[in-house]
Amino acid sequence: MPYVFGPVPSRRLGNSLGINLIPLKTCNYSCIYCQLGKTTNFTNKRLEYFPNEKIIEELKYAIEHSELKINYITFVGDGEPTLHIGIGEIIIWIKKNYNDKFKIAVITNGSLLYDEIVRNELSNADLVLPSLDAPDE
Ligand code: SF4
Repeated sequence: MPYVFGPVPSRRLGNSLGINLIPLKTCNYSCIYCQLGKTTNFTNKRLEYFPNEKIIEELKYAIEHSELKINYITFVGDGEPTLHIGIGEIIIWIKKNYNDKFKIAVITNGSLLYDEIVRNELSNADLVLPSLDAPDE
C-alpha cells in the first residue's frame, strides 16, 4: 500500500512529498467538487486507518531515496487526514528525526479543528491549510 508519493511540484509548497493516511474516499464531508468523487466511507470517527509504523517506514525510505530536494512533507490524500488518529505522532516523528530539514503542511477540510486534541496534534506542523467553503463570496 503506497502511503507516500512524490515529491511533486506544488505552486504553494515547492517540492512536496505527500503522505496519505486515509483509505480512498473516507471523509466526514462529501463535497460536490471533490476530485476523488463521492464519499463512500462517510465517517467522523478518528481511527488508525493504516498502521503508523508502516507509514513511517515508507516515509523514511522515500525521504532517504528522493532524487529531488524536498521542501514540504504534506499530509493530504484520499480522504480527510485528521481522521487518522496517528497524525500527531507522525508529525512529531518527522520533527524529531529530521529537525528543521523539511517543513510540514497539513491540508484539511478543517472540520475537526474544534477538537483541542486535533489542534494540539497539528500545532507541531509548520503550515495548516484548512478549506473555507461558503455559499457565496
Ligand atoms: S473534504 Fe476533501 S476529501 Fe473530503 S469530500 Fe471534500 S474535497 Fe473530498
